[in-house]
Amino acid sequence: MTSFHTIHLITSPDYLLHDTGGPDHPEQPSRLTAINKRLENGPLSKNLIKVDPVPATRESILLVHNEDYLLRFEDACLSGREYFGHTDNRICYDTWQIAFLAAGAGMTGVDIIESEEGRLVFAAVRPPGHHAEQGLPLGFCFFNNVAATVRYWQNRYGRKRILVFDFDAHHGNGIQEIFDEDPDVMYISIHEHPTFSFPGTGWDYEAGIGAGEGFTLNVPLPPGAGDELVIQAISDQITPAVNRFSPECIVIAAGFDAHGQDDMSGLDWSTLVYGKIGTAVANWADRFTQGRVLSILEGGYVPDALSASVETYLGGLAIKV
Ligand SMILES: [Zn+2]
Repeated sequence: MTSFHTIHLITSPDYLLHDTGGPDHPEQPSRLTAINKRLENGPLSKNLIKVDPVPATRESILLVHNEDYLLRFEDACLSGREYFGHTDNRICYDTWQIAFLAAGAGMTGVDIIESEEGRLVFAAVRPPGHHAEQGLPLGFCFFNNVAATVRYWQNRYGRKRILVFDFDAHHGNGIQEIFDEDPDVMYISIHEHPTFSFPGTGWDYEAGIGAGEGFTLNVPLPPGAGDELVIQAISDQITPAVNRFSPECIVIAAGFDAHGQDDMSGLDWSTLVYGKIGTAVANWADRFTQGRVLSILEGGYVPDALSASVETYLGGLAIKV
């Protein structure tokens, strides 16, 4: 019989309060409702420990965003504006507080891992974060949840070399921008080719800047790319890069919008491939981090496909062999 390691699931009903203005917006509260319902009723339910997130502090957000950006974001939310920056980035009054709660989930997860309460953490949060740059909201993202978690891990616990692997269909321009010149953070992203896809970054020649050169790896895939190309890229390019980097900690930007049913990208991944990605990540974690890995939700906009893909990913990550 298949058995699984314990997973700490960090989520909160408060994430539903981030109102994106109605059913026409793809980044819906129902995304999280579907994930929670599926996990609670599925094969992983007995292995899940649900944890409430602690909100990030302002100081911890200032490690990745600048003061002016925070003031502009706060003003946009609290003055009742409907969007921040681009009209895609819908906000409401509560978005300001909920963004701190989303960024804090990863930090809560770091505390769980460092206290040895758990090895596997999944933070099911919204708003997502990987497009948010130091001073720029983008693609439904306000605070870069993954980047803030990386900086917290380094500062609070003295960890140095951190791997970020991003398998969202879109390039995580924000994560790349924040760590571009930093040789201690390796950013690896697999995504739809920037010629065809938002946000237009993530070319294979973008490999880091200055001291950070060689610590960014972009693997763009052509539209229509299915499971085979993902599996091949993981074994031929990504796993060798992880081995060379030899991380102390692993943070995953877990987006599920490359799924064939999700029209936010032209990629055509199956539900099952997310299980294979999960197992590949678990293998890196076994090799380098005593099995410890923290995953944070990014995209994925068709609730059924998203929730099934999350469950399959976590199954692949947590399976006992
Ligand atoms: Zn995406």
